[in-house]
Amino acid sequence: MTNLTEEEKDFFRREIFKERPQEACQDCGGIHFGICPRIRRLVLVGEGQSVGNRVEVEYWPQGQYDDSDTIYPGDVWSEEKAVE
Ligand SMILES: [Zn+2]
Repeated sequence: MTNLTEEEKDFFRREIFKERPQEACQDCGGIHFGICPRIRRLVLVGEGQSVGNRVEVEYWPQGQYDDSDTIYPGDVWSEEKAVE
C-alpha cells in the first residue's frame, strides 16, 4: 500500500469498514494491515485441537504504539457526520 496517497488509503479503509465491519480488529477495534500494532506479545497454542488459539496476549500501553496506519470506526463515522 506504499504507493497510495493518504486520501486513497482513507478511501479504502472507509470502504472496508462499510463492507466488512466484522473485520475490525478484536484487539484495538480498528482496521489495519498486518498484525495489530497494539499487541506487544502474543502466545498461541502450537499443537493439538485448539492450535492457533490464544493463550496469552500482552498489549502496549495506550499511546505507546504506532497506530497511525489504523483507522477506527469513530474516525470514519464522525467524519461522515461532519459532511452531512
Ligand atoms: Zn488491531
